[in-house]
Amino acid sequence: MNYISTRGRAPAQSFTEILLAGLAPDGGLYLPESYPQVSRAELDQWRELAYPDLALAVLSKLAADIPAADLERMVRKTYRAEVYGNVREGSAAEEITPLRTLEPGLHLLELSNGPTLAFKDIAMQLLGHLFEYALERQQSEMNILGATSGDTGSAAEYAMRGKRGIRVFMLSPYGKMSVFQRAQMYSLMDENIFNIAIRGMFDDCQDLVKAVSNDHEFKAKYRIGTVNSINWARVSAQVVYYFKGYFAATRSNDEQVAFSVPSGNFGNICAGHIARMMGLPIGQLILATNENDVLDEFFRTGVYRPRGTSQTYPTSSPSMDISKASNFERFVYDLVGRDGARVAELWKTVESGGAIDLREFDIARFGFASGRSSHADRLRTIRQVYEQYGVMIDTHTADGVKVGLEERRAGLPLICLETALPIKFAESIREALGVEPERPRGLPDLEGLPQRCEVMDADVAGLKAFIEGHVGTPNS
Ligand SMILES: *Cc1c(COP(=O)(O)O)cnc(C)c1O
Repeated sequence: MNYISTRGRAPAQSFTEILLAGLAPDGGLYLPESYPQVSRAELDQWRELAYPDLALAVLSKLAADIPAADLERMVRKTYRAEVYGNVREGSAAEEITPLRTLEPGLHLLELSNGPTLAFKDIAMQLLGHLFEYALERQQSEMNILGATSGDTGSAAEYAMRGKRGIRVFMLSPYGKMSVFQRAQMYSLMDENIFNIAIRGMFDDCQDLVKAVSNDHEFKAKYRIGTVNSINWARVSAQVVYYFKGYFAATRSNDEQVAFSVPSGNFGNICAGHIARMMGLPIGQLILATNENDVLDEFFRTGVYRPRGTSQTYPTSSPSMDISKASNFERFVYDLVGRDGARVAELWKTVESGGAIDLREFDIARFGFASGRSSHADRLRTIRQVYEQYGVMIDTHTADGVKVGLEERRAGLPLICLETALPIKFAESIREALGVEPERPRGLPDLEGLPQRCEVMDADVAGLKAFIEGHVGTPNS
């Protein structure tokens, strides 16, 4: 099974060939040539599987060119109780993504029990092993350069720490992250992890990454790479927990379910779309946004109108403060009947800041519903879930629960994806509940550990000099 580009003008490639790449050469995103199908017999068999076995079953359909024994070794190293042990009372770490039932027909799928307490660990931890494996086979190295305001950067660092052939240079805005986020990232002492705190804002960090990446000579010489949310392997790894959640919430494969997904870059819910296209009986994919509601607007109106940074608002669910969803192009490719030329044309408009009108296509047949949530909504939902069920949820998960309850079709069990643990957003928990957020069982005293980071001005030359001084041998 090969991968093609959403813009239709790149050669078909295998999973391992696209693994380390970002965009396809024509500027599009990779998708399977056709979605591998899961038969009823397979579904019946998969229902009984433990997480690592289920992951292996799903991923062997998507990463078909990795030798089975190699894939199995990486999957078993990734999906272990020791890696996903930050569970709350009553949850089992062996489940990796335990399903917590709030009341009959209403569930929370715990995706945040990994090292950085957000769902991104589920995919990123596998990516660390996949990258190390691919680089070793190519006898190559990679220097990952990224910018973060919190979640993605820490998930990448915890996935790549100690991996052979990989270094991570992660830029973060100096003094702008929460105490917990700082402790999480800056306490890493691994030799291949470089935290660089930039005197500036998140946008300055992102501009620096762009400036370095646009210097093609430097980029090639120092093998600069990324791990952003368009990476296909990340999306693939996320497909697994939709199967897991479905089996845990139902008794038979005749049933349908609804998933509600707090969304920003459309990566998480894109994996749900793919699970559904592979044959998982998903009745509804409910997309939740915060005040940055570009995706909710699309699913309500059929018009996609991305916005600029000046119209992107900082909110109390900050990991969803996005006004241009980098994975959305994958869905649009399917929506327009997999017409790459059409997508290329549409994205010319998107990239020049315009809106695209997709009302002529049958959006409804893909099962999406959507809604948005405000700061007040999220505080109210956090309170409601805490009072009614005794469960503390974070602000992003609260957006999903709020919209899920509003949009669910009667009769469908609702599975709300938990995308982070409340301790990551302590301030909002205090505001909503007047108490301190719970600490998960497996979490060490991060805030008490010594920290290390390099503080720098927002200066491209200085950043390049730092990278040059800390990589091994450059490409000649
Ligand atoms: C990244 C993130 C999201 C958004 O996920 P997308 O894949 O970008 O849609 C939601 N919640 C949390 C906590 C996140 O870290």
